[in-house]
Amino acid sequence: MGIDWKKEVEARKDDMFADLFTLLRIDSVRDDSKATEDAPVGPGPKEALLKFLEIGDRDGFVTKNVGNLAGHIEYGAGDETLGVFAHVDVVPVGTGWSHDPFDPIVKDGRIYARGSSDDKGPGMAGYYGLKIIKELGLPVSKRVRFIIGTDEESGWKCMDHYLAVEEKPDFGFSPDAEFPIINGEKGILSVYLNFGGNNQGGANELVSFNAGLRENMVPQDAQAVFISDEADKIKADFFEFIEKNPVSGTCTVDGNKVTLDVVGKGAHGMEPRGGINAATFLATFLNSYSFGGDAKNYLAITANSLHDDSRGNLLGLNYVDEVMGDLTVNPGVFTFTPEEGGTITLNFRFPQGVTVEKIETALTSKFSEFGVTLTRGKAQLPHYVPADDPLVKTLLDVYEKHTGEKGKEQTIGGGTYGRLLERGVAYGAMFPHSIDTMHQTDEFMAVDDLVNAAIIYADAIYELIK
Ligand code: ZN
Ligand code: ZN
Repeated sequence: MGIDWKKEVEARKDDMFADLFTLLRIDSVRDDSKATEDAPVGPGPKEALLKFLEIGDRDGFVTKNVGNLAGHIEYGAGDETLGVFAHVDVVPVGTGWSHDPFDPIVKDGRIYARGSSDDKGPGMAGYYGLKIIKELGLPVSKRVRFIIGTDEESGWKCMDHYLAVEEKPDFGFSPDAEFPIINGEKGILSVYLNFGGNNQGGANELVSFNAGLRENMVPQDAQAVFISDEADKIKADFFEFIEKNPVSGTCTVDGNKVTLDVVGKGAHGMEPRGGINAATFLATFLNSYSFGGDAKNYLAITANSLHDDSRGNLLGLNYVDEVMGDLTVNPGVFTFTPEEGGTITLNFRFPQGVTVEKIETALTSKFSEFGVTLTRGKAQLPHYVPADDPLVKTLLDVYEKHTGEKGKEQTIGGGTYGRLLERGVAYGAMFPHSIDTMHQTDEFMAVDDLVNAAIIYADAIYELIK
């Protein structure tokens, strides 16, 4: 039976964008300061979840809210279940937007808003794929659950909870990365380097150092405050430094108190080369001045072992796997005060062949002499679904059919819901020609990409459950 998927999507295009805009208008950044038992990651993610489920109800699907943390929209019947996983939480906005990130606009064929490409846009395209199958009344032999999470960008509380109380789908995909497919995801490990707060013994005294919003983002903004008797000289040096490096910045001198702000470029932490780390540039500048105690070590380690080294060469951790690619490291969040001490959050993405233990051993042997201790954060092992799995084959066939381009297997720095299932992958919604603005200022999704993704999702879901 030849179904004209393109025609079906075109007929629903306006509705799809209207629903998407409704979701984009909800500020769904996780906010622990407003979390309650009823809204475990804050009110924004919950509101976005409820809105998506409401859309499912409106369209006549069976829906279920799972603890205000996750939920699903269900269709079909059968022994096997396909899971389609999307998330409605977004990363913090950051600075420098040209317009309100929660008031979506269409400009030059692009939808600009936080979450347009990660992941509300692709999620909505996936949902419309399912909606079309339902509205056409196509015969299916399996069940589909379109599963919505609210904590993908932080701790995955949503899916921990969902999979603890709901049945696990047999296979699935997540529209939260790129086409042709992501069937390999690197392991993910966050390690916190902990420093004491002693800032005495140098000519300058570090009062605070702060940078970064999330461990999976390259810090766009960094700020250091310190006491100095050579404020004017430092100010002049700082502007020279800014001139010579790919960052901008400001310097405020108030008596002997100096405040330096550096602006780099945010990016997804899984490929730090996409951004410019404001924190490591700031520390590199400060490291040429005299600081004492833990503050000195804090700046020196950042400058000497973390700056401009996304492959972990300076840490002795560089490694490349033929199928899964490079180990990467993103120094994502920095805090230092004399009262609280210092922390640096390192977010590693590692291929098969590297272990959590290997990374921790290397860090310990390098930094313990400076009084640095380690705490382990989130750890996930590398994930790989073989290229000859029928799931992978079907998804690549559908991609080829609609784009005329050859599908091929790919590994990324990981972290999509694809890894929740043994037979789980990520699939779209960026195309090879798309510009990746996930986690960035002025995030956008091209209108055509979203339409084409919905066409592919409709066909792919049908192929997998017919
Ligand atoms: Zn995402
Ligand atoms: Zn993301």
